[in-house]
Amino acid sequence: MLTDPNDTFAHAKTLLPQLSAWRRSLHQHPELGFEEYETARLVARELQALGIEFSAGIGKTGIVADIHSGKPGKVIALRADMDALPIHEATSNDADYRSQVAGKMHACGHDAHTAMLIGTAALFAKYPPTQGGVRFIFQPCEETKDANGDSGGKLMAAAGAATGVDAVLALHVTPIQPAGVVSYDPAVSASVDNFECVLTGAGGHVSMPHRTVDLSMVLGQVLNAIYSLVPRNIDPMQAATLTVGAVHGGDTHNVIPSEYRLVGTLRTRSSEARDRALQAIGQVVSIAQAIGAGCTWRWLPGALPVAMNDEAILGTMLASAQAMLGAGCVGGADELGLGGEDFSFFAKAAPIAMLYLGTKMPHGDHGDWHTPTFDIDETAMPIGTAILYDSVARLLG
Ligand SMILES: [Zn+2]
Ligand SMILES: [Zn+2]
Repeated sequence: MLTDPNDTFAHAKTLLPQLSAWRRSLHQHPELGFEEYETARLVARELQALGIEFSAGIGKTGIVADIHSGKPGKVIALRADMDALPIHEATSNDADYRSQVAGKMHACGHDAHTAMLIGTAALFAKYPPTQGGVRFIFQPCEETKDANGDSGGKLMAAAGAATGVDAVLALHVTPIQPAGVVSYDPAVSASVDNFECVLTGAGGHVSMPHRTVDLSMVLGQVLNAIYSLVPRNIDPMQAATLTVGAVHGGDTHNVIPSEYRLVGTLRTRSSEARDRALQAIGQVVSIAQAIGAGCTWRWLPGALPVAMNDEAILGTMLASAQAMLGAGCVGGADELGLGGEDFSFFAKAAPIAMLYLGTKMPHGDHGDWHTPTFDIDETAMPIGTAILYDSVARLLG
């Protein structure tokens, strides 16, 4: 096993052409959540070529691979997500690796995550652990959920992909920092609870609102109550947002509708704020009912829990990065946010840590995550690969 971080980094740098080839192949052939058949085939083919044992079809299209020393010790898992997004690529450069599938694109960098995890497996195949072992989790469907409200991380964790391991580590690329910079958010994931609210009441002719419940007026009051809920119930020092994403109802100018359907999301960075907001929703329902409307509020299946980084493991990843990139490589806390990340499901099995890897393009006008002009600086991929390898080496001791 390589134990000198600079030695590991030097080996990882020689993998750049391969890392780039894997990433570009995945980028050209993006697949949405739980449809990662070709993606999983590419991963399986490379693992097979490296002589690494694996199981496919975990959590539908996921893969779990292991390299074990055969000696006692910890087992450290590394996780990459593999799915793309329903976005039509519009990168301004003429990159020959652009998505070849209309309406689908790797706009969150999961192509790079998958490539870096294959690269790390390649390093471990050549320089295996001398005690304990390393597990590679290639996870489907991070971005969305199936009809049951289940995402890939949830299904893989439920299938035992991380059961019995001592830690699960992951990287996520960031277009905010350049290559050579890493950053982190103390929270791996905000809580995400999606809701559906249905307002009902007698509709009728717009000239006679007094003979109806006038749901459009009720809608206004309900929206007001929804947007007042966080500031009136959550400590302003705690981050939370309750936001409506869509309102459906009504068809024409002279009919008062008899139903409105609202959908949206509650996001927080603490379980306490989440619990308070969940409890306070009754106020919204009561306001609608007080003015004569029917109101049902339903939290949809597939909620994400708040998950925090394990400080010691995150510290190990940061120490790895600093050993290779210098003490000043840790960027600011500009990743703090209310983003959801289904890596949080692995926290039920083991302590987790996620580091952001700077991949901002040095030139050109490239967009944020989930935009049609998202792209990454591939020179960051050997850095990510080396950080994953070296962090495992440190944790295995
Ligand atoms: Zn994403
Ligand atoms: Zn992502």
